[in-house]
Amino acid sequence: MPSLILVIEDEPGIVDFLERGLRAHGFEVISALDGVTGTERALSEDVDLVVLDMLLPRRAGLEVLGLLSAAKPGLPVIVLTARGGVEDRIGGLDAGAVDYLVKPFSLGELAARVRAQLRVAMQTPATAVRAGQIEVDLLTREVRFAGEPVRLSTTEFELLVYMLNHRGRVLTREQILRAVWGYDHDPGTNVVDVYVGYLRRKLRSDERPAPIATVRSVGYRLEDAG
Ligand code: CA
Repeated sequence: MPSLILVIEDEPGIVDFLERGLRAHGFEVISALDGVTGTERALSEDVDLVVLDMLLPRRAGLEVLGLLSAAKPGLPVIVLTARGGVEDRIGGLDAGAVDYLVKPFSLGELAARVRAQLRVAMQTPATAVRAGQIEVDLLTREVRFAGEPVRLSTTEFELLVYMLNHRGRVLTREQILRAVWGYDHDPGTNVVDVYVGYLRRKLRSDERPAPIATVRSVGYRLEDAG
């Protein structure tokens, strides 16, 4: 059965482009032209993923996001933001969006992000997590990269597991800090960057760089493959 995507966007031209394009990629698509209708449809219909514009009439994207992540925490939401809207992006990710796209974007890019998020959403929790060359046994806490054992400190391990559980998603420094360090930290701290640096050094080989991408001015993304 094709996945059902809800597009919440007020510009009819973009809605039309998204509907036709996503259908051509094999998805079923419904849409809503404002934040209130969008929230209602997301909560009342059996939607698999939401594509949400941040600037909407009647209810702002950020508010829609808050309502959806409270009512349906497992529902992936990809937000659409304007070029340069770094605050929007960080706000959206902190409010529970799994990924974002900056306008204008290509349909191929959107379809790839949608597929990646649907794949992650469908996976059930397991005792072993794998992404590309990284394998983690959550019971024994053994980590391998390209088949070779890697020794990690407790904090490095927690950081890696958090990133693996959210692989393919952009994570802000604030999200990582809250999840791994678990307390209110000086927002100016660079502890996240320092530990991502440690992980990158341990999770790479001569042939393969570490699969952790820096998302400029936002945070990090652990790549799903590679
Ligand atoms: Ca808009």
